[in-house]
Amino acid sequence: MNPAAPAIEASADEALNQVPPLTNYNLFLADGTLLAAVERSGAGWAREQLIELGRLLGTEELQRWGFDANENTPVLHTHDRFGNRRDEVVFHPSWHNLMRTAIANRVHSLPWVEKRKGAHVARAALMMLTSQNEGGHNCPISMTFSGVATLRSEPDLAGKWEPRIFSCEYDPRFAPAPEKKGVLLGMGMTEKQGGSDVRANTTRAEKLGRSNEYLITGHKWFCSAPMCDAFLILAQAPKGLSCFLLPRWTPTGERNHFYIQRLKNKMGNRSNASAEVEFAQAWAQLVGEEGRGVSTIIEMVNHTRLDCAIGSAALMRQAVVQAIHHARHRKAFGKLLIDQPLMRNVLADLLIESEAATLLMVRLASAFDARESDPEERAFARITAAIAKYWLCKRACMQVGEALECLGGNGFVEESIMPRLYREAPLNSIWEGSGNVICLDILRALAKEPLALEVLMRELRQNQSPDARLNKFVQDLETRLSQTTRDPNLEAQARNLAEALALALQANLMVRYSSPAMAEAFLLSRLNGEHGYTFGTLPASVDVGSILSSNH
Ligand SMILES: Cc1cc2nc3c(=O)[nH]c(=O)nc-3n(C[C@H](O)[C@H](O)[C@H](O)COP(=O)(O)OP(=O)(O)OC[C@H]3O[C@@H](n4cnc5c(N)ncnc54)[C@H](O)[C@@H]3O)c2cc1C
Repeated sequence: MNPAAPAIEASADEALNQVPPLTNYNLFLADGTLLAAVERSGAGWAREQLIELGRLLGTEELQRWGFDANENTPVLHTHDRFGNRRDEVVFHPSWHNLMRTAIANRVHSLPWVEKRKGAHVARAALMMLTSQNEGGHNCPISMTFSGVATLRSEPDLAGKWEPRIFSCEYDPRFAPAPEKKGVLLGMGMTEKQGGSDVRANTTRAEKLGRSNEYLITGHKWFCSAPMCDAFLILAQAPKGLSCFLLPRWTPTGERNHFYIQRLKNKMGNRSNASAEVEFAQAWAQLVGEEGRGVSTIIEMVNHTRLDCAIGSAALMRQAVVQAIHHARHRKAFGKLLIDQPLMRNVLADLLIESEAATLLMVRLASAFDARESDPEERAFARITAAIAKYWLCKRACMQVGEALECLGGNGFVEESIMPRLYREAPLNSIWEGSGNVICLDILRALAKEPLALEVLMRELRQNQSPDARLNKFVQDLETRLSQTTRDPNLEAQARNLAEALALALQANLMVRYSSPAMAEAFLLSRLNGEHGYTFGTLPASVDVGSILSSNH
């Protein structure tokens, strides 16, 4: 003890009524909704791995990696000290640790290498855990996973790249792919003049002789994780917009003409580097047919949409877990926050949203599992990827914002994870089809893919009888959908329709799999209009106590 220190300073250092850090808990075992959904979907074989990863991600050390990787953002080195082009991004060691952990757990590849039923669900659950810890590194993980779906339209290329893509070893060295133990894929579609409307791409592709080799000249305005080993990009070839695989190194072992101009100074997702890049006759290989670039790369896009749904469900889960933890330890006006009636309403409402998101995300992942052998599930996955992507990404922005406020001023401070979750939330909604574009895509699927509508309605009619409100909601939706071809305002109403479809899907899942109190609260508040415009407006009849006690 320092006798010189005045007593007043000692008392100022005492942290009264502060909440202990939420650490050393198991992210998987604490999530009863995810646990049950994994078992139900035939992915129970991944249980031990999920438990271990859930434990690891809850440790203080791994939580620290997430903070460090975001506080120490990537640095671009365009040139070396002699003035030669270098075009390398240097990341903090914690970024590499996060990447190594995800790759060792096969979050980038599991369904491609594991043929057991439920592999997509198992991977979705793994990603739901990693995304709660840190969102940024999931970008290259997701692009690598999704890129395989497009690469497979060119079997020779896929055969060459897949062994290294599927490796469980993370190899961050900037070196030609054949020299590496593991490689990663990125994506380059967006250009300065437009991202949604990729047909306006100006990047050009010139064919080299009669092979599938081309030289690419142009730019990409957003090219995330530029240290990936190869990129699926779009460029205008003689027969129209086409998809190419553009590696960072040419087959002769030289640096490809892939120049990183600068990194974006982003609002969130700060651990990850998102670059502006120029291609000056960069070497690339055609993927799929020339002129059919959009339909070739769409397979990648559909898989990344699944990941946007997973990422958003993860953000909501982590946000509500933090909010409930805080409320269990923080007192105000003589009582713990968790015992304050209005706070209980808010927390229960946030928990309902999170559970509904997890159920929809897992249902979507299970459709990806079944789609290889079942055309109906393929059609369901096609439309539900868009619906879930739209709705979960939108809801995450609101749900995370409200959860942040449950921590009061502490939630606004970087040391809590809340600002990071909040800044990450809008991103999932922007990329892979921003809100409006996704809703227009839902209309396109409804109009052009009759099977998608048929299987969607069949899913919604399933197990309906127990609840009259759900029956009515679905009937009204069905009537509305039958009139869409004649509706002159259809495009302007696309968000409204997407929202109704998402709510119907979530209600259907809640009725089947949630506790009676949770399902009833969802139906009353989301389908029956007994809810205000903000979270925490559940009607008095809702059994808030039962909902809150369901969260472990
Ligand atoms: C952090 C970050 C990383 C990214 N990484 C990548 C990457 O690695 N690779 C890549 O290719 N792209 C990447 N992107 C780009 C992203 O995919 C695009 O920003 C997105 O597709 C939207 O394109 P845009 O920005 O050009 O917006 P625009 O296409 O200009 O759209 C602007 C707005 O208009 C809306 N809109 C567009 N068309 C219509 C319409 N017909 N009717 C009504 N509304 C419409 C959109 O929904 C959007 O809200 C990244 C973006 C961010 C923020």
